[in-house]
Amino acid sequence: MKITSYGAALEVTGSQHLLEVNGKKILMDCGLFQGHRKLAFEKNQHFAYDPASVDVLLVSHAHIDHTGNIPHLVKEGFKGVIYCTEATKSLCLPMLLDSAYIQEQDAKYFSRKLKNSALSIEPIYDAADVEHTLEQFHELPYDTKYKLYDGIYVTFHEAGHVLGSSMIALDILDQEDGKQKRLVFTGDLGRDRLPIINDPYDLQMSDYLLIESTYGNRKHAPIEEGVPELARVINRTVKRGGKIIIPSFAFERTQELIYSIHLLIDQKEIPTNLPIFIDSPLATHLTDVFKQHIELYDEDIRENFRLGQNPFDPRQLKHTNSVEESKNLNFFIGPCIIISSSGMCEAGRIRHHLKNNIEDPKNTIAIVGYMAENTLGRKLVDGAEFIKIFDQMYKVNAEVVILESFSAHADKDDLDEFIKRIKGLKKIMLVHGEPTQSEAFAERIKTYSDAESIVMEPEKSVKL
Ligand SMILES: [Zn+2]
Repeated sequence: MKITSYGAALEVTGSQHLLEVNGKKILMDCGLFQGHRKLAFEKNQHFAYDPASVDVLLVSHAHIDHTGNIPHLVKEGFKGVIYCTEATKSLCLPMLLDSAYIQEQDAKYFSRKLKNSALSIEPIYDAADVEHTLEQFHELPYDTKYKLYDGIYVTFHEAGHVLGSSMIALDILDQEDGKQKRLVFTGDLGRDRLPIINDPYDLQMSDYLLIESTYGNRKHAPIEEGVPELARVINRTVKRGGKIIIPSFAFERTQELIYSIHLLIDQKEIPTNLPIFIDSPLATHLTDVFKQHIELYDEDIRENFRLGQNPFDPRQLKHTNSVEESKNLNFFIGPCIIISSSGMCEAGRIRHHLKNNIEDPKNTIAIVGYMAENTLGRKLVDGAEFIKIFDQMYKVNAEVVILESFSAHADKDDLDEFIKRIKGLKKIMLVHGEPTQSEAFAERIKTYSDAESIVMEPEKSVKL
């Protein structure tokens, strides 16, 4: 039995991990590499393994860096079943359609830019490929052991990261040495007490662990500080007469923000008549999926529903769906909140809002999510004085705040606690982290665990 990472090894996106055992090839996640657009385009073009040779695909959650390459995998010959939770399946359709749309837009943009060059840039899949791919999806309930093959079982457990997210547990009788083995892939691991969703499953036993390490060496501000800090940011911007621009992932972060802002309005912590705009058709679509999965919510939010209130529909909130409505936001006078995607500011409507608002010192850009290296969002986090949007330079005069406690990823303490609770660990393999994060995490594991800690390298197999 061996495992090989073909993405998200020494980097944070493009999760693809191939387990080979008993003559079967089991792929866990098939994500798109994200980051600088040209580099991302080149990396996503080819698979380093034969998609037609993969037997089955297990998907941890619906984020594009874990799912965005699936239609491409199918297009290149993968014919097996794709297993995931029911909510992940519901979320994958809008997420993958949006990914196809962004690729189409990017291809058009680059074709215009490169019209005199021999390079031609095509989307790696389109909407029809996505529809076709969805036919191979099969949902499985949480915490239920399911037989994939003789001697190979899979169980999805709550990962507490986003709606539908799971850690994938494989119980395997390895025919090579006759031993029973358990491997758990965490997918992205969440945090206890995140708004909306349940806490991560309490994993107690595993031989092997493939674990994310996005924040392997960093600590977040406590979750409890997130909402009051958001209130302070909103109030001081409103006082200046400015706008609060929030680049946000359409999936989960936007719903968490709406929920938190709704709570602040109810508690009169922020002006109750402040207009809020969700300028992302994808976010609007995904919020509808959230409304259909009340069974996955934690107690606080269920309480709100029981009181007949919809946490995702404060009356001040407007969804701007058409391009016209979105453009009209440029002419909106006075304070407001604009939540728009993409989260890392590399694509979508957010770039227009940044362009129009970043030079005015009255405004605030509130960063609430992870920003990968080489993205526009990362430049803002790193305190850039000037940024380039649509080939033009803009001076960053607006206040830039980073609200770290909104992170949906476990931080270093959460990761350590998670590992310490697991008995029987022999090998811990670190993926989904920038080298500085993963390497420091691997060193720290040695101080409290007898298991071997390994930072996964791209395409380098580890024997289990
Ligand atoms: Zn994720």
